[in-house]
Amino acid sequence: MLIVKKFGGTSVGNVERIMNVARRCIEDYRKGHDVVVVLSAMGKTTDDLIAMAREVNENPSKREMDMLLTTGEQISVSMMAMAMGALGVPAVSLNAFQVAMHTTHKYGNARLKRIDTDRIMNELDQRKIVIVTGFQGVDKYDNITTLGRGGSDTTAVALAAALRADACEIYTDVDGVYTADPRYVKNARKLEEITYDEMLELATLGAGVLHNRSVELAKKYGVQIVVRSSLNENEGTIVREVTNMEKMLVSGVAVDKNASRIALIGLKDEPGIAFHLFHALSKYNINVDMILQSVGRAGTKDISFTVTEDVADEAVAILQKSFPKSNYEKIDVEKKVVKLSVVGAGMMTNPGVAANMFEALYDCGVNIKMISTSEIRVTVLIDESSMEKAMNAVHEKFALAD
Ligand code: ADP
Ligand code: ASP
Ligand code: MG
Repeated sequence: MLIVKKFGGTSVGNVERIMNVARRCIEDYRKGHDVVVVLSAMGKTTDDLIAMAREVNENPSKREMDMLLTTGEQISVSMMAMAMGALGVPAVSLNAFQVAMHTTHKYGNARLKRIDTDRIMNELDQRKIVIVTGFQGVDKYDNITTLGRGGSDTTAVALAAALRADACEIYTDVDGVYTADPRYVKNARKLEEITYDEMLELATLGAGVLHNRSVELAKKYGVQIVVRSSLNENEGTIVREVTNMEKMLVSGVAVDKNASRIALIGLKDEPGIAFHLFHALSKYNINVDMILQSVGRAGTKDISFTVTEDVADEAVAILQKSFPKSNYEKIDVEKKVVKLSVVGAGMMTNPGVAANMFEALYDCGVNIKMISTSEIRVTVLIDESSMEKAMNAVHEKFALAD
């Protein structure tokens, strides 16, 4: 069997944990399997590197940021190869350049295009454990790129697809995928299985346990993922196309803290206003998420929308520059908001999910600022200060706990 095993930052956060991971991988190797290991940077290394860069430059070049951040993963893989060597097993570490993991050119958020498998297969044929840096790639000009925060999961799934692996295991600091982030919802329940579509929604809506693009790739190439803990032997969660379980109405609750709301008040109520407003933002590649337009009154209306928090100031600056002030009265920005979502494939055939969610929020006194829905989710924007209360109330409402 060929097994791809990915370990996140906490799982390789210190020397003992590295030894622990080395032993776990060696167990599979000794059973005769081919083992490819994908690692993240140790502990909070990536955050620390970002902070260090900011000390020398408030607005560093994206190319140099990627050059810097990818060093974190290089530390983990070399340390791991040494740890395995100390345990008497031949291992080799490879970075994205050595493997040849081709990505697009977009620094900080590159997409994997193609992975050469020759080098890895060659090393496996020599009965070595191959340890690959997660989160990084190389563009066609040989620049180093990164896949976005949390991107090591995507490296692992892409490798599993390219190598036609028999298993893809993602080891993290929780036992699997839960009905809500167990950090905030104490009685969240571990799911035995979840479909790609539901997991993709959860991950996209803020459940950081898997990088959303890893789920997208897994679905595209039919890679079954197992999410489990590196710290114990508990069974994890299987992510796959269909699950054997009865479709649950709601499979989970997710929050995304990286949201801001921008409101344009007193806009002219005439054709073309929405077009000009959002066209100005799209020209600068600002992604807009939820959009709400009020009913027009006395020739004016309001439009509010959400963007990720990191581009909120930029979005306002663009509007102030490119969207004529004569079109509106004022712009408001609110950063202390979060998106709270419920996700479930069962929703498609069951009305009333939104109403139940709103009732749970009403019961705990949480005001809803915006609403959006899709076939398998309902999302609301609420104040950050009520996040935990709201998560727990909604989780309870859908009886997601044990
Ligand atoms: P790693 O470094 O292993 O990639 P991450 O921090 O990226 O780990 O992801 C694991 C974390 O994801 C957990 O510690 C947990 O707080 C968070 N999380 C958010 N939503 C969920 C969920 N639905 N189920 C499990 N964990 C979740
Ligand atoms: N080290 C990177 C990060 O912290 C990639 C990852 O952990 O998946 O975002
Ligand atoms: Mg992660």
